Amino acid sequence: MKAVRFHEHGDHGVLRYEDAPDPDPEPGEALVRVRACALNHLDIWARRGLRRVPIPMPHISGSDVAGEVIASTAPDVSIGHRVMLQPGVSCGRCTECLSGCDNECPRYEVLGYRNHPGGYAELVTVPVQNLVPIPDEIDFVHAAAFPLTFLTAWHMLMTRAKLKRGEDLLVLAAGSGVGQAAIQIAVLHGARVFATAGSGEKLERARALGASEVIHHYQEDIAQEIMRLTNRRGVDVVLEHVGEATWPRSVRSLARGGRLVTCGATTGPNGTLDLAAVFSKQLTIHGSYMGTKGELMRAARFFFAGQIEPVIDRTYPLADAAAAQQRMEASGQFGKIVLEVQ
Ligand SMILES: [Zn+2]
Repeated sequence: MKAVRFHEHGDHGVLRYEDAPDPDPEPGEALVRVRACALNHLDIWARRGLRRVPIPMPHISGSDVAGEVIASTAPDVSIGHRVMLQPGVSCGRCTECLSGCDNECPRYEVLGYRNHPGGYAELVTVPVQNLVPIPDEIDFVHAAAFPLTFLTAWHMLMTRAKLKRGEDLLVLAAGSGVGQAAIQIAVLHGARVFATAGSGEKLERARALGASEVIHHYQEDIAQEIMRLTNRRGVDVVLEHVGEATWPRSVRSLARGGRLVTCGATTGPNGTLDLAAVFSKQLTIHGSYMGTKGELMRAARFFFAGQIEPVIDRTYPLADAAAAQQRMEASGQFGKIVLEVQ
């Protein structure tokens, strides 16, 4: 098969479009012909290389996949079925998996991140429980753009922060994959959304997705604006994924009893935390990583019913994966960048 692989860590120049061995499904796995694969920041981290996260070489990235089943032992998903893939691969047998917390499984892996080859390829294998059939009216590009960011945002808002109808939420970086998903999920659940972005055009798009108020995060102080917009109260929940660059302002934006939920640290992991604010304002900090298979299935119902939909920034052919990653690294996108596989 054709695949985009890297044989060493480095910048986007290490990505090679080349021949690779066809994957062989193991018992309990399905073989899927990839039709579309969306990018995530995880792809960039894996390519650059992270301390403490060894990645076997050569490596195929790609956590967000849609395609057609070529071989399957799942009783309800047979050959030819159109599917999107659950990006979280877990053992399915441990206490955590059987308690419905499969993203806490000791053997949890994200498709395309470390040991499990991903969707920057013509073929991919996954456990049959990771197959999610998609309706005919959902195209492969949108299906590939849905799982990881909507799953992440759903787990953050619904399960970790327990966002309630009528609450105020601050979403950082509305143009990011998790940002555009969080705005839609929060509006769907009756929250008032404040969103930040780094350009006027992105702010308009955030409004179009349902944000009530928008903040230019390069030109305005996020915490000051939140306090002005909420009559000095602050927001109930902050959705963080930016890290060092925004963490102190995110904490200052919280109301008394507020919750901060974080799934990432794109600008660096060493945020400072005002402990006096944590206890005096009775704040709660939630870490969040991916989400459970059940949560993805629940979120997908709203996607299939047309109530939420991933925003597509741009598509590229698989062979142009390096250019696609360059666009993501330059933060020029609003929504998901997707590779199409012919
Ligand atoms: Zn497990």
